[in-house]
Amino acid sequence: MKFSILTLFPDMCEAVLSSSITGRAIEKGIIQAEYVNIRDFSCDKHRRVDDYPYGAGGGMLMQCEPIYEAYKSVCSHGEKPFVIYLSPQGELFCQETAKALSQKEHIVLLCGHYEGVDERVIEQIADMELSIGDYVLTGGEIGAMAVVDAVSRMVDGVLDCSETAQTESLYDGLLEYPQYTRPGEFLGKKVPEVLISGHHAKIAAWRREQSLIRTKAKRPELLRGKEMSKKECEMLKRVAPYSRTVTYHTEMGEFQIRESGGKVVEICRPKYIDTGETPLLRSAGEYLRAFFAGKDAAVEFDWAAEGTRYEKAVWGFLSSIRRGETVTYAAVAKAAGGSARSVGNACGKNPLPFIVPCHRVVAAKDLGGYALGREMKQKLLDLERGGRLV
Ligand code: SAM
Repeated sequence: MKFSILTLFPDMCEAVLSSSITGRAIEKGIIQAEYVNIRDFSCDKHRRVDDYPYGAGGGMLMQCEPIYEAYKSVCSHGEKPFVIYLSPQGELFCQETAKALSQKEHIVLLCGHYEGVDERVIEQIADMELSIGDYVLTGGEIGAMAVVDAVSRMVDGVLDCSETAQTESLYDGLLEYPQYTRPGEFLGKKVPEVLISGHHAKIAAWRREQSLIRTKAKRPELLRGKEMSKKECEMLKRVAPYSRTVTYHTEMGEFQIRESGGKVVEICRPKYIDTGETPLLRSAGEYLRAFFAGKDAAVEFDWAAEGTRYEKAVWGFLSSIRRGETVTYAAVAKAAGGSARSVGNACGKNPLPFIVPCHRVVAAKDLGGYALGREMKQKLLDLERGGRLV
């Protein structure tokens, strides 16, 4: 497999890829890496490759011609390699994509710089745009290195038998189980007994279970649609699903707020004292407003829906909520594949509103025909209008 990297910084790329596992794979000839300096294809006597953008605006853009010529130089006769433009606008690079790309024979990685690249050359040569994360880097080189590294690991023979990709995080869509090495005890913490039992089947079962538990704790959205045995589903229901649970005592009862990695993922009210929906809502609003300041997302959810198909779908949807995003009840219902009414029904008689960052109550105006008590509906609208929860 061959990678051709079109860059303004070939030395930087070579320094990274000639080390460690990629370096070894290059030495063995399992992968080939070619570093092409786009500047070598400049038509300018000062070797410039950038110019001002049309329509003004700050910064400089990389020009079409040097990139196009650099690209042509890496295409052998009649060949159309697979071209990736590294860009913050691209699809997010993930393990699945790395696996798929490992099937290509020749990948060209175009690294932009300055304010980016003239759009026409991207249209002309790129088959795919890839981003390595939702942030802006100075150039595409770091992204290209990440792609070459992750893709190479998927190529047969790159990892030796002691280094296996198959058990690593995300290979099969789960996070890897916890790992331990010598000493057997560190600051009083012992290695889990099963790992020193020598019982391979038990170790494998423990690892699978730990993978599932970790995935639920750290990246619950990965479990969406995942095939699991009935026993595994039940085990996951029993384990504390999130990394932290905080209990709030209010005059209305106890609220439990569950967080994963600093992100609020669930609020439930296991010991809810049923004095009616409106005071509960007000109380919840007040407590939540204080509690969630600066947190990512929150939702109130009636666990009557647990175990239903709605719960699964809604769960996946909720984990995708981002800071500042407004989530409407209708959107949640849509994610669950049902109408607001059917989700409401599945959630119990009086589903509480979904609450999102900044504690905006978004349910009221979207509830439409949903059979909410008049009083509660009015309360929601008042809260929304008055912005008390915003
Ligand atoms: N003006 C561009 C925009 O807003 O889309 C960003 C240009 S960025 C400063 C310069 C170059 O860095 C890009 O052309 C791209 O090749 C690379 N780059 C920046 N962020 C990246 C990311 N998250 N993933 C992959 N490449 C990135």
